[in-house]
Amino acid sequence: MAKCPKGKRSRDWKVGKDHYGNSVIHVGFRERDCTKCPVRSQCTRAKTTPRELTLKLPHEYQTLQQARIRQATDAFKQQYAIRAGVEGTISQAVRGFAVRHCRYVGLAKTHLQHILTAAAMNLVRAVNWLEGVPLAKARQSQFAKLAPVRAIG
Ligand code: SF4
Repeated sequence: MAKCPKGKRSRDWKVGKDHYGNSVIHVGFRERDCTKCPVRSQCTRAKTTPRELTLKLPHEYQTLQQARIRQATDAFKQQYAIRAGVEGTISQAVRGFAVRHCRYVGLAKTHLQHILTAAAMNLVRAVNWLEGVPLAKARQSQFAKLAPVRAIG
C-alpha cells in the first residue's frame, strides 16, 4: 500500500514492464480520489486517468540506493577523479579528431588510423603545453549556473 501526498491509499500494485522491457511495479490510485483532487495538476500530467507510480523491484531499488551512497564517499570520488582525466582525452579525440568516423575499411587500416590520431593528439597537446595554452575549464550546465553559490565554512 502506498499513500499519496493527500493521504489517499493506492488501489493496486502490479508487476509489469517499463518502456525498456525491465520488470517494474505499477502502483495505481483510485479514479474517484484523483479526478477531483485540488492538487492534481502538481501530481500528474495525465489529463483524465488517476495517478500512477512506477517503482523499481525491491532488490534493484536497494542496489541503486547502495550505489548512490557509495558515490557520495571520498574513496569513490578519488577513484572517479582518475576517470575524469580519461573522459577529457576521449572528448578531445571525439570532438577534435573525429575518431567516431572511420575513414577506411578493414580492421588493420582502422587500427592504423587510431594510432595516427593518438599520435596527432599527443603532438597537439605537447605543442599547447610548450606554448603555455591554458587547459579548458569544465563546462557547467545552464541549470547549474542558475543555482546559488554555496557559502563555504
Ligand atoms: S492526484 Fe490522486 S494521487 Fe495525487 S495527490 Fe491527488 S489524490 Fe493523491
